[in-house]
Amino acid sequence: MKFAKILARTAVAAAVAAVAGVSGAAETQLTTDIVVVGGGAAGMAALTQAVDSGKKAILLEKNAFVGGTTAMAEGLGAVQSKWQKNAAYSLSIEDAYNRLMNFSHYKANGALVRRFVEGSGENIDWLSKHNLKFKLTQMSPTECITWHVVDKYKGVEHGSAYIQALSDWATSKGGKIMLSTPAKSLIKEGGKVVGVKAADSKGNTYTIRAKAVIIASGGFNNSPERVRDWGHYNPEYYPGLAPINKTGDGIAMSMEAGAVTGEMALMVHPGIKASKVKMLGNIWPISWAPRPVWVNDAGRRFIRETVVHEFSDAGNVLGHQHNGYAWAIFDKKMVDYFANEGIDLGIGVLIPVGAKMTELQKELNDAIAQGSDGVKTGATFADLAKQIGVPADTFVQTMKRYNENAHFGYDRDFYKEREWLTPVETGPFYAVKIGAFSFTSIGGIKVDPYLRALDKNDKPVKGLYCTGMDAAGMYGDTYPVWFSGNGFGFSSWSGRHAALQAIEDEKI
Ligand SMILES: Cc1cc2nc3c(=O)[nH]c(=O)nc-3n(C[C@H](O)[C@H](O)[C@H](O)COP(=O)(O)OP(=O)(O)OC[C@H]3O[C@@H](n4cnc5c(N)ncnc54)[C@H](O)[C@@H]3O)c2cc1C
Repeated sequence: MKFAKILARTAVAAAVAAVAGVSGAAETQLTTDIVVVGGGAAGMAALTQAVDSGKKAILLEKNAFVGGTTAMAEGLGAVQSKWQKNAAYSLSIEDAYNRLMNFSHYKANGALVRRFVEGSGENIDWLSKHNLKFKLTQMSPTECITWHVVDKYKGVEHGSAYIQALSDWATSKGGKIMLSTPAKSLIKEGGKVVGVKAADSKGNTYTIRAKAVIIASGGFNNSPERVRDWGHYNPEYYPGLAPINKTGDGIAMSMEAGAVTGEMALMVHPGIKASKVKMLGNIWPISWAPRPVWVNDAGRRFIRETVVHEFSDAGNVLGHQHNGYAWAIFDKKMVDYFANEGIDLGIGVLIPVGAKMTELQKELNDAIAQGSDGVKTGATFADLAKQIGVPADTFVQTMKRYNENAHFGYDRDFYKEREWLTPVETGPFYAVKIGAFSFTSIGGIKVDPYLRALDKNDKPVKGLYCTGMDAAGMYGDTYPVWFSGNGFGFSSWSGRHAALQAIEDEKI
């Protein structure tokens, strides 16, 4: 399903929930083996595994539809899947493990990371047995080929296909999905989590008793307060890209039940910070393009723009600029290049590499004509400086020096690779305001290598498992883009393995 469609559906669901009344509300008691909180990658894998193991399971979903952020994602990261072996691709488990640990500066949980890396390929193979197919894809030149983009299933593709296929499978085997029914709190008795309390949009309440609860509510990146308090980011500089109401519910509930948190951060990425710009239209890829020149609000360059090949690093750099933004500067010649040759770096496969931005000139003209606060043009660098409010002398000097570097073939200032050093000198010139967004939060409740939630004494909170973007231990402060798709891959793997673990621990 297309990203824009998912966002539209979210808005409709929110409106429906807002007008739903509370008259005639009922209280319902249910009993099952496993309750899963959240219907994204982790939750769907947990539900599917539970029913495959012959257990009774109920999945609670806050929204009026399942999918969460996963429905917008494209592919799962894994090592040594059959798909990779068939393509003779050979990133080893050891390399992947060592790189992940180094990347996290050893803040990640080594035993958890090892289990995920070792099991990630087999998890893709398990998904293949659940009617899913994949296209092994490389998104940027700095990535390993770990991204298993989900192929079509019943007319939908990517994350939506994953959700549809697993939800069809699980419900056909007796798994129950309750939409618009957010979990509100955990039930704890005798030191053990024994169920969940939930309420639907009509005011009906549910007490669901179970032998284990699997938290899979997808993190907290739609809660500005929690982005600030838990993630330690300025929420104004790092808004969530997709407003789907993920507010850290599962993490907060687990904390109330005695679990503690580990590393918590955001999966950040660059994006456009301008009014009058269409989401994922032709202007959007400018924020992921390595050729334009990035300047801050002082009119100076601050980084080699090819940092954008790792979107999370690029998000970090942009969010750390004064006032949380920068300008991407390009010229008419580059507009024509994007239209005729296509973009050098895709936004995943949502706007794939090589896509021709034939509407870019029109979208720029329209945004400028409509007075966009973040799309500007000027006949000269001095004119453009005035438009974007940076000191003209500094900006003109910055662009002059960049063009000298480009002609010389060596970036004296930030060592941008020669291949991407394109002169920007054929007016009119353009500036588009760019900054950071978050795809999701990463990290939450501290878990052991078996996805059991841990308390302050590092002991499992019995009956409670945390998965996907609600679990800490996979990451440090930044998402490792070089292992493309590991957020989705880890979510799926951890949901499924939490179910297997719960069945074993609780002898379900
Ligand atoms: C545009 C976009 C593209 C992306 N592409 C990729 C990609 O290709 N590869 C990759 O690895 N990562 C990608 N990501 C990130 C990826 O989607 C996540 O890392 C992963 O899918 C998260 O899975 P999850 O199950 O933890 O959470 P989600 O999929 O978000 O699921 C959580 C679910 O829990 C529900 N929920 C929340 N609170 C409650 C509650 N109280 N009760 C019941 N339900 C609740 C939510 O409504 C949601 O449905 C992308 C993200 C975005 C936004």
